[in-house]
Amino acid sequence: MIDRELLDILACPVCKGNIRHDAPEDKLTCVSCGRRYPIRENIPIMLEEEAETPGNSGR
Ligand SMILES: [Zn+2]
Repeated sequence: MIDRELLDILACPVCKGNIRHDAPEDKLTCVSCGRRYPIRENIPIMLEEEAETPGNSGR
């Protein structure tokens, strides 16, 4: 579970956009560029190289 205060201080490392919690998938989505960051052990992984890009479906 990611709390709202944490979301408020997080920003996308790529574009500095706001982050939204995507609850069904438990990922953090940048509202500006659409990158999705994983959450591991309740720690948001805010790294560009860990992010899924919008045009890159699956792996
Ligand atoms: Zn972004």
